[in-house]
Amino acid sequence: MNKERKRSWAEPYKIKMVEPVRMTTREERHQAIKGAGYNTFLLRSRDVYIDLLTDSGTSAMSDRQWAGLMLGDESYAGSENFYHLEEAIQTYYGYKYLVPTHQGRAAEHIISQILIKKGDIIPGNMYFTTTKVHQELAGGTFVDVIIDEAHNPENEHPFKGNIDIEKLESVIKKYGADRIPYVSVATTVNMAGGQPISLENLKAVRKLTTNYGIKIIHDMTRVAENAYLIKLREPGYSEKTVREIVKEICSLTDGATMSAKKDALVNIGGFLAVNDEDIFNKARNMVVIYEGLHTYGGMAGRDMEALAIGIKESVEYDHIRARVGQVIYLGNKLLNMGVPIVKPIGSHGIFLDAKKILPHLSQDGLPAQSLAAAIYLDSGVRAMERGVVSAGRNPETGKHNYPNLELVRLTIPRRVYTQAHMDVVAESVEAVLHNSANVSGLKFVYEPKYLRFFQSRFEPVS
Ligand SMILES: *Cc1c(COP(=O)(O)O)cnc(C)c1O
Repeated sequence: MNKERKRSWAEPYKIKMVEPVRMTTREERHQAIKGAGYNTFLLRSRDVYIDLLTDSGTSAMSDRQWAGLMLGDESYAGSENFYHLEEAIQTYYGYKYLVPTHQGRAAEHIISQILIKKGDIIPGNMYFTTTKVHQELAGGTFVDVIIDEAHNPENEHPFKGNIDIEKLESVIKKYGADRIPYVSVATTVNMAGGQPISLENLKAVRKLTTNYGIKIIHDMTRVAENAYLIKLREPGYSEKTVREIVKEICSLTDGATMSAKKDALVNIGGFLAVNDEDIFNKARNMVVIYEGLHTYGGMAGRDMEALAIGIKESVEYDHIRARVGQVIYLGNKLLNMGVPIVKPIGSHGIFLDAKKILPHLSQDGLPAQSLAAAIYLDSGVRAMERGVVSAGRNPETGKHNYPNLELVRLTIPRRVYTQAHMDVVAESVEAVLHNSANVSGLKFVYEPKYLRFFQSRFEPVS
């Protein structure tokens, strides 16, 4: 028999500069997590060994990007780097007009204030924390129209980011197209576990919204990862380049908000991009109040240059294959160990099913928050909660929102860690799983009004 030999792959870069990480003792970690109110967002990074809190702004830039920083044109108006960024956005995404912002939520703020009026409804493929808050602050209400499969961590649907076309149409019929300024479409869906939307589905959403005269605003924070998963999974796209798929996705939407701190490989930055000149003029006027002049919008010239280069690198095949490949490597390792995770494996992180890992805790015992604290205590690996704490309270009733999913996210920064780090992480999660009966629940001792997961403090319930 002619058996194919297994061929391994490795990270498509070599390391030019190193940043040492600190190892701690269990006693040090115990003190640190207690001092942080059992909230991993409140830990100091010096107390963290492998930091999987977020993939936001944590990417390693390339030597090209660092070289780009030296070409920063810090003119207040008309910086050369703005024009490089504008060209990158037109070339790789195809949107006409660019309004730079300091990060994604600033773009969400501006587009929400321009398009949403009081009483409006904004359907979308599962909420994202900052997106939803800005829609609500502008007087709108978010309505989730993602397919039901997205709420089931066991379901292996390849495109759990898809919109349920029937749900969307019934929302339009119920409220009327006049009250729906746009449909909010995210590529990939962060809160569902980094799950992609298919081009087939996006085309159907485009057709329906065009019939009703409704816009699509694209949360394109992880569009390159979504495009790569389309290439892997969607019939008819295996021969297309990631670059082509990214452009096709954008072409089906009317505008986009971007947190460049994710796919675009920079540590800070974002933008709003639109095709409509009237919306652009309004946004360009608003950005000067909240962010800065329209040719920098809260970013330094050098940061715009690094972003222009990062956008180009983000759609290169070797990069995106290794980026998503590293996540898949960790996910498969955990699956082989019998750890319950959201399936299929998403693009930017692994989502542990805290309800299954800590079955003795009710949702009021904050299972995902408790699991994240337990993993930190075991190994110094920092993860984050995506469950009842992140879901916040219902603004009308003041009660907790109870999401179906109670998850802990192990988010992989881009180009930062090696497969050896992934091995260490997997072994720590396995150790906590085997010892899970000893993990106690947590309760709130301090809760801020907005985006409470960032700053809440907890203590163990005994
Ligand atoms: C991070 C993120 C945002 C917000 O962007 P910031 O740059 O953090 O302000 C919006 N949408 C999604 C899907 C995100 O992941």
